[in-house]
Amino acid sequence: MIAENLQRILQEIPSQVHLVAVSKTRSNEEIMQAYETGHRVFGENRVPEMVDKFEVLPQDIQWHMIGHLQSNKVKYIAPFVSLIHSVDSFKLLKEINKRARQNDRVIDCLLQFHIAQEEEKYGLEMADTAFLQQDVFQSMKNVRICGVMGMATFTENMEAVRGEFKKLRAVFEELKAGPFSGNPDFTQISMGMSGDYRTAIEEGSTMVRIGSNIFGPRE
Ligand SMILES: *Cc1c(COP(=O)(O)O)cnc(C)c1O
Repeated sequence: MIAENLQRILQEIPSQVHLVAVSKTRSNEEIMQAYETGHRVFGENRVPEMVDKFEVLPQDIQWHMIGHLQSNKVKYIAPFVSLIHSVDSFKLLKEINKRARQNDRVIDCLLQFHIAQEEEKYGLEMADTAFLQQDVFQSMKNVRICGVMGMATFTENMEAVRGEFKKLRAVFEELKAGPFSGNPDFTQISMGMSGDYRTAIEEGSTMVRIGSNIFGPRE
């Protein structure tokens, strides 16, 4: 079923929209069923789980960190992580830059913005982005900011969700016209999960993160 689900979603979404197969809590066998269809991009939200899977699964998998990331855990994923979606503070970004430099890499990152109603969701506000103008940020050579990420409120109310995606799109456009103007790397809007990816794509998503619709419901 996993292979069929993945193929169905890939056929449905526009070809320019990237699909991150969210494999948190899934076994290596389940991930390999998706891998064998040719898919290479997988998302995890916990550092130890991602490291364990990286160590045993094929080396050409591109691992995306999609969950909240503590600064003291960056060192474990810095050698291999492909894209960090969840940069929600300047402190974290500085740590990623430092660990990327130690590994002689440039790590791709997205800035996570708070767009949902729920209090507990992580993310920046527009007011937190002043650091993008600072010299310290400008001089960071080992991180590449590729766009923004956000999570909508968990609700059936798709019009509320649509409003939140519109908000993230507006944040993206504002940054693209401001601190990232002329920056060809700043292109991605990571939004949309199993329950809301169609709406997210209508609102300009370039990257959807889908777990349950591929692998089935999580425990
Ligand atoms: C779990 C998770 C997803 C995928 O959720 P599904 O509803 O299973 O598609 C997407 N993004 C983040 C940040 C997640 O933690």
